[in-house]
Amino acid sequence: MLDAVTALTGKTVETPRAVRLTLCDTPSQSMVEPSVNMRFALRSFTPQAVPLRYKADTAFHEILHGFVHRHTPAGSALLRERKGESRCVRNHLHLLALQKAVLLSLGATQELAQVIAIDSQLPSACYKRAWELVNETEGTYKQYVSELAR
Ligand SMILES: [Zn+2]
Repeated sequence: MLDAVTALTGKTVETPRAVRLTLCDTPSQSMVEPSVNMRFALRSFTPQAVPLRYKADTAFHEILHGFVHRHTPAGSALLRERKGESRCVRNHLHLLALQKAVLLSLGATQELAQVIAIDSQLPSACYKRAWELVNETEGTYKQYVSELAR
């Protein structure tokens, strides 16, 4: 998936030394080192456990945060169009578009559908909204990816 990012944007992703997995009550995040909360993948924790594949996609999502932060143009025209959206939504538009482009380039359409479905059920409505915007038209995600590739 990291190679696909380079193929799509012409830029390399800095690979983290490690992605931490936690069962504590902390959300997946990318502040210091990427960390993924695994408790929701445990059937012993919740009857609606998410598939492990989704957790791999979450790790990828967290790894992409630094990359997207570095490569989103300062005066992004696409973000300017969305200035009424929350900061969380705006922080995810380029990221989810890139995640979508990568999964599609690998032929992982089922996996993409799963990421969108599960993200859209998360307590923070931000991901659902960001996916709606990225999926607004068939080609919307490509516009975000091309800003990252500039
Ligand atoms: Zn995120």
